[in-house]
Amino acid sequence: DPACAAPLPVLGREVTVPLVTGGEVTYAALDYAASAPALQRVWDDVAAYAPYYGSVHRGAGYLSQLSTDLFENSRRTVAEFLGCRPGDQVVFTRSTTDSLNLLAAVVPAECEVFVFETEHHASLLPWRDARVTYLNAPRTPGEAVATLERALAGRGSEGPALVCVTGASNVTGELWPVRELAAAAHAGGARIVLDAAQLAPHHPVDIAELDVDWVAFSGHKLYAPFGSGVLAGRADWLQDAEPYLAGGGASRKVARRADGGVDVDWHTTAARHEAGSPNVIGVYAIASACKALTDAGFEALVAREQRLVARVREGLAGVPEVKVLSLFGEDAPRVGVLSFVVEGWNSSHFAAALSAEYGIGVRDGLFCAHPLVRTLLDSDPQEPGECGAPEAEPGERSLNAIRVSFGAGTPDEHVDRFVRAVRELVTDGARWNYRTEDGRCVP
Ligand code: PMP
Repeated sequence: DPACAAPLPVLGREVTVPLVTGGEVTYAALDYAASAPALQRVWDDVAAYAPYYGSVHRGAGYLSQLSTDLFENSRRTVAEFLGCRPGDQVVFTRSTTDSLNLLAAVVPAECEVFVFETEHHASLLPWRDARVTYLNAPRTPGEAVATLERALAGRGSEGPALVCVTGASNVTGELWPVRELAAAAHAGGARIVLDAAQLAPHHPVDIAELDVDWVAFSGHKLYAPFGSGVLAGRADWLQDAEPYLAGGGASRKVARRADGGVDVDWHTTAARHEAGSPNVIGVYAIASACKALTDAGFEALVAREQRLVARVREGLAGVPEVKVLSLFGEDAPRVGVLSFVVEGWNSSHFAAALSAEYGIGVRDGLFCAHPLVRTLLDSDPQEPGECGAPEAEPGERSLNAIRVSFGAGTPDEHVDRFVRAVRELVTDGARWNYRTEDGRCVP
């Protein structure tokens, strides 16, 4: 039974943390949506390669050649992992944020961009120089498709257009109808980029099968926390635009002109947007993670994770003070990401209690998706710091939320400890008085 498969080995399982109540406990990392732990296999691959590290695309020596091969083979591995079509490019970036900013920098002039207000800020904000239309939060997947269809039908021009949409919400974990949105985008004369930051670690993402034009994701959420990300997809807009970064590696030929200026012949491959010495370790780590997930098999990974999702859902359903946040309905399909508020609790204090009393690491706040969390909480919280939690007085209604998230490395015990902790905190209260000091929750 694939649902009974063991979790994949990850780093950090043995880390112990002190409890305010005395003693220590192994850390339960339940914040995969922010950053997932490194797979042991990724760590092993990186460690095995590190002594052979050399400059990529720049050296004649053996180790430079080896590193260059490894870098370009990693590109092929990622292309395979994503089911890229012939002609698609895989550009290595720093992160999803970087990938989407790169795409925003290469969209043709006069491009219209359509983005739901429910997106992570990385998907919401890079388009401010374009003609961007923000679409209202849909309350069903079908409404998302209908909203997009309407918006595209109402376009004033036949010019280029782009839709940017998430595959799985970083707040609710809910799956978005990517295939249907891609069909609607194309029928409406637009292209579509998939923010797969939260989808790729949990589900197979096949660019051809989903029929999306580009996919973006981050290594650190895919068990490869070494500072690299990916933008993969259609080559034309990438090839036609000015390089995202100007510098060495992006140019084929640079020459002084008679008038004293400089002429540049830029690469038309992915290298066009990868100027500077690339992060070969980060890229190799991503390729290693892609292979590890493929070898483990998404069928088994999804089955096991869904069993954990059901366990959390059932556990929280037994606590009436807990309200799980959702756009599409509490039972909508979701990855291992779930946000909630607890009646009578400040979410920051609740998260602090989970950490200090149970050794459980979750996240509280607005999760860099302020408009979405505001919609879900049906409130207008005070201005928070970027990605931060707005302050509520003790006892006041929660203005932010708590997010629990997990994945391929999560043992059952972490999820069970979390459910038990929520029950105990709600029933017995915190054993400590959590106060805010300089915006931080401390015991
Ligand atoms: N999109 C989504 C859906 C995310 O969850 C995140 C990270 N929380 C990002 C984009 C940005 O990813 P990164 O911070 O790695 O750039």
